[in-house]
Amino acid sequence: MKRTRRFCFLLLLVFAVLILGACDSGMALISRPVSRQVFAMDTVMNLSAYGSKAEAALEKCVNTITQLEEVFSVNIASSDISNINRNAGQAVHVSEDTMEALRTANKVSLMSDGAFDVTIYPLVSLWGFSTDIQQVPEDLEIKRRLPFVDYKKIRLNTKQQTVKIPEGFAIDLGGVAKGYTSQKLADLLELEGVTSAMLSLGGNVQLIGSKPGGDPWHVGVQHPEKANTFLGTLSLSDCAVITSGSYQRNFTENGRLYHHIINPDTGYPAGNGLLSVTIVAKDGAYADALSTACFVLGEQRALELWQERGDFEMILVNISEEVIVTSGLANIFIPDEKSSYTYTFAN
Ligand code: AMP
Ligand code: MG
Repeated sequence: MKRTRRFCFLLLLVFAVLILGACDSGMALISRPVSRQVFAMDTVMNLSAYGSKAEAALEKCVNTITQLEEVFSVNIASSDISNINRNAGQAVHVSEDTMEALRTANKVSLMSDGAFDVTIYPLVSLWGFSTDIQQVPEDLEIKRRLPFVDYKKIRLNTKQQTVKIPEGFAIDLGGVAKGYTSQKLADLLELEGVTSAMLSLGGNVQLIGSKPGGDPWHVGVQHPEKANTFLGTLSLSDCAVITSGSYQRNFTENGRLYHHIINPDTGYPAGNGLLSVTIVAKDGAYADALSTACFVLGEQRALELWQERGDFEMILVNISEEVIVTSGLANIFIPDEKSSYTYTFAN
């Protein structure tokens, strides 16, 4: 009798040790995520990560967000961008992050024939999108500023790590900064040993690995006219899903809606029939710049760029209530059954 009891006790002990051991490795992944909410870059950011390394890694992420905001913001006087803008006409020494973000911006500017252009700031500030007070500017004033927008005039000196823009020019990284940040956070989390995390920076989602257990993450594609409603859901792992939409930041004057994505050729908000562009790509900064670029390019030219490049997928939503999904997403996009929009696949 005594022997049986001792045997049972030993058996329980072995089980307890096994369970504790498992909790410290894979099993802990199935438990709840560690989450942080941060308000930065004018955006509510939700970070969520799994596993025993998550807590410490997310702490580092919060610091990285603050650091990058201090470097990129046009509204912080000591930022790299404010420094470049204040010293237009002279070469300004900047951080590696600024150089890297500007290199990605330049690549997408070249690809999109200038639809993406970080020297857009003279126009963004004229419309008031960098502040809380927005207004439709005088047409003459818009025309006067157009010659001060041209990404080809940015001088990036990689060796000296300096940036120079001509006098009268000004840079705004708003179209690439959040994607750059989410990519940096993903790199950091991986380095810290986190293999499963989801970061949501406003309309920007960055996925690290898969869900605990190996299933893909589900990312909703926002309905452009109905808050908290999705046009469909993407099932994905380890990539960036980034949306630019006219619904994200805008104002109405005399019954007309004016949004924050400016066509560098006209100086007016891009008005080519698109309501949103969602880009799926490996790199967050690239996806972010592309989402803005494709929004300006419009449906036809965006699809041409997609065919030409082959390194991203996208979902376009237009004013005719059509959702155009590129073929690489065909098997992983589930449309909302109740939606009145029509769905087509592009090849
Ligand atoms: P996103 O939400 O990523 O499409 O970025 C929009 C932000 O990028 C705006 O709020 C501006 O700060 C900036 N922006 C607007 N138009 C352009 C453009 N044509 N190229 C680059 N950046 C732009
Ligand atoms: Mg963007």
